[in-house]
Amino acid sequence: MGHPVAHSRSPMLHGYWLKTLGIPGAYELKDLTPEQFPDFVTHLEANGYVGGNITVPHKEAAYRLVSARDQAAEAIGAVNTLWLENGRLMGGNSDTHGFIANLDERAPGWDVPGCRALVLGAGGAGRSAVYALKQRGAEVDLVNRTLARAEDLAARFGPRVHAHGFDAVPRLLREVDVLVNCTSLGLAGKPPLDIDLGPLKRSAVVYDVVYVPLETGLLAAARKRGHRTVDGLGMLLQQAGFGFRKWFGGNPKVTAELRALVEADIVAKTLK
Ligand code: NAP
Repeated sequence: MGHPVAHSRSPMLHGYWLKTLGIPGAYELKDLTPEQFPDFVTHLEANGYVGGNITVPHKEAAYRLVSARDQAAEAIGAVNTLWLENGRLMGGNSDTHGFIANLDERAPGWDVPGCRALVLGAGGAGRSAVYALKQRGAEVDLVNRTLARAEDLAARFGPRVHAHGFDAVPRLLREVDVLVNCTSLGLAGKPPLDIDLGPLKRSAVVYDVVYVPLETGLLAAARKRGHRTVDGLGMLLQQAGFGFRKWFGGNPKVTAELRALVEADIVAKTLK
């Protein structure tokens, strides 16, 4: 559910799992205006659905309209996945699950004792990343262009999250075990993320949630320096599994075949 939604890759992901797991279900796109959304979503079951995902511009409305939210959605302040539990409309946030499942899969052992993470960006993706890292015991430094936004988040998440401006990045890089880009810098058509990885420990993991291009400038630079790297496509794929399990059950796996399917779509649409 969004407005517009035609660009969504979710039908491709869920369609793949429905087919490979042999589940007779469907995942459909619904383009709903802000006027149509509240009535549609509060009658989701009567409309024939067991749940769904929410995208722009309905995320705030979804947050308000659900009967209850899971812990992550409550903490982050954003709902992007809905499901029904005993007839009640529940809201969750799949990005936090996708973010951490991808990190665990691609960089096992990242959460070393006393782990310190540096997250760049305090928007929607940054919030999910900070929450997930903090839940796993990391001390989190959060850098944002608009410092007040990082400070708001640090205040919300408590003493293990520290807010800074971009000027602190060279100093912070020396101490971190995980560096994550959650800004839109490095995304195709946006300016690059211009930071010098020089001070970063060789053992540090570098994660970019941006997945168009598949290998961002940050990840290419980190790979050349020998760091373990984690790309954003894995997060997109893993987050979809969160909703799928709620609606259809089964064990939706992020296979090489699924990844290749989505990669091909990204490459085709980026080259256009
Ligand atoms: P958002 O809420 O709009 O936040 C954008 C962030 O980028 C803010 O922190 C913003 O800083 C920062 N930013 C934008 N332009 C900047 C610039 N010129 N210099 C410095 N900082 C800048 O967006 P979002 O939803 O968090 O998404 C961020 C990126 O993550 C997007 O590229 C999106 O595609 C990607 N993403 C990936 C996944 C996935 O599954 N892999 C999921 C969600 C998002 P200010 O606060 O100062 O504006």
